[in-house]
Amino acid sequence: MDIPRIFNIMESAHRIHNPFTPDKFNTLGAALRLEKGTRVLDLGSGSGEMLCTWARDYGIIGTGIDMSELFTEQAKLRAKELGVAEQVKFIHGDAAGYVSDEKVDVAACVGATWIAGGVIGTIQLLSQSLQDGGIILIGEPYWRQLPPTEDIAKGCLAHSITDFLILPELIASFGQNGYDVVEMVLADQDGWDRYEAAKWLTMRRWLDAYPEDELAKDVRAKLTSEPERYTTYTREYVGWGVFALMRQ
Ligand code: SAH
Repeated sequence: MDIPRIFNIMESAHRIHNPFTPDKFNTLGAALRLEKGTRVLDLGSGSGEMLCTWARDYGIIGTGIDMSELFTEQAKLRAKELGVAEQVKFIHGDAAGYVSDEKVDVAACVGATWIAGGVIGTIQLLSQSLQDGGIILIGEPYWRQLPPTEDIAKGCLAHSITDFLILPELIASFGQNGYDVVEMVLADQDGWDRYEAAKWLTMRRWLDAYPEDELAKDVRAKLTSEPERYTTYTREYVGWGVFALMRQ
């Protein structure tokens, strides 16, 4: 079981697989007023940077589930490196339908809401693991500016304009589903650059190392087109943030 190999290649050097930077995760942890011993569940935990740094900085204990074997391995190494391997556990597996045995204080899905068919489905899934009065974290894209055409939405790698909402609509949608938005931390364009531009050097080095690989053509095509596509579309049109929710 794994995610498509192309993502493991492009993001092999990423610690954070979304437009957040380390300072944003730190800000979010402080904003949530995390205390020592806070139990955190993270579905789609990637390379574990959120849980590992929160374990180090705020003393949380956590579990992360991710379908990428590579990212999960990297998460375990990171936990050892930061001296928090006793506090955080990383499971390689499908997070779709995952409900924890023990209820948690914070249940998160930061940039992987497709695992439960979108934001609403993911909130429902996370709520099954959540202690009464706990906090749900959703990391999700939104439109910084509404794309004027469907072609521009596709340039942002959305299927259609309706894939995302503008920020006030996304915020309103949480309320309409019975949740208070109690905090939020938004990514910025520098963070987007860290996420997207970091893929280019990784791809270039990978191509130099594995020119005969069966994916070399695809990776070459992406390296050629991505910098211009990203700066034309995603960087201008797509925002991203983590929203903290509590049931009303
Ligand atoms: N939250 C992490 C990773 C976000 S990227 C971070 O902030 O860095 C999305 C992640 O979802 C990837 O790590 C990918 O491997 C994982 N993923 C995709 N489908 C999944 C599934 N069905 N179950 C668990 N993880 C999944």
